[in-house]
Amino acid sequence: MKLHEIMSAADRSFTPENSVAEVVNSLAEKSHSCKVICENGKPKGILTEHDMVHLFATYRESGLPAGLTAGDVMTKELITFATDLDLAEAISLFKSHSLRHLPVVNPDGVLVGLITLPDMVKAYLALSEKHSKLEELSEELHWLSLEDTLTGLPNRRAMEIDLVHAEAVSQRRAEPYAIALIDIDLFKPYNDHYGHPAGDDALRSFAAVACKHIRASDKLFRYGGEEFLFLMPATNTKTALIAANRFRQAVSDISIEHCKSPLGHMTVSMGVASCRGDSWKDILLKADSALYLAKSEGRNTVCTLDNETEFRFPMIDTQEEERRLGLRC
Ligand code: GH3
Ligand code: MG
Ligand code: MG
Repeated sequence: MKLHEIMSAADRSFTPENSVAEVVNSLAEKSHSCKVICENGKPKGILTEHDMVHLFATYRESGLPAGLTAGDVMTKELITFATDLDLAEAISLFKSHSLRHLPVVNPDGVLVGLITLPDMVKAYLALSEKHSKLEELSEELHWLSLEDTLTGLPNRRAMEIDLVHAEAVSQRRAEPYAIALIDIDLFKPYNDHYGHPAGDDALRSFAAVACKHIRASDKLFRYGGEEFLFLMPATNTKTALIAANRFRQAVSDISIEHCKSPLGHMTVSMGVASCRGDSWKDILLKADSALYLAKSEGRNTVCTLDNETEFRFPMIDTQEEERRLGLRC
């Protein structure tokens, strides 16, 4: 906010030759708190209510001397401000010079406005109110956003919307849907070793690569932190396991350097679950338990708890394991 937006119109009619009595009358008539004394429109001094009180105290006994002019009693070292000065800068000058009135001049030095301390306080309050409203609005917008700001992936809110939809479709069509929870292995040691900004870069790279390795019908979300979620509509557990394990292998093959990992590169563990019309919250819990199992199995592993036989893809060759499970000839 600039000063010309909050200043009130200037009265340039008083010169140093005007009598003090004339200035006092004008102050009283117009309820002004000061008069800027000008010559050819340019400020030469100021007379404030405060000055008047001092003046009357000084001449209490004898009364004001005849012929006493504004020029005789005005404060001459006048600080003026340019119209395009910022409110924040003006406030800091107000404070540092203990000012109460602020004459505003144009580039030619002609008085164009006046700002008083109450004007300044009012403008400041209006500004801070606007600022806090903007902050509230941006928080609201952030909440409404469906995109994760770091990776550009759909965020957890988007995920919940899509999971509700997947659950409803699954119920209506009586077909299963599957999810895979993905957790980057040993990401805390990664951050500790390479630094948090490098960790952020790794999450971005991971998200970009992950998007290339999912089927067109599937969707990837940032679940939070270093955890992601695959939503696989119209997919049963076996098919989801194949997709998940191929993904695990793809991440391992990309070989993002991670010297604190046993393999020397970044790996992920995954928990898979599927259901036919069950609540998405239940399937998420099942996937989370399967992920926990994958971690305890040594990481870089895909697990599920969906069937009586626990399918598991620990650190093995993907094709061989698919053959063992009868998923590939
Ligand atoms: P585990 O293999 O058991 O999953 O081990 P971990 O170290 O990956 O798991 P842990 O839960 O101990 O640590 C997760 C780390 O992920 C800690 C946290 O600082 C980091 N992290 C979470 N979100 C972000 C992020 O947005 N940026 C960065 N750089 N790090 C993050
Ligand atoms: Mg985690
Ligand atoms: Mg982790």
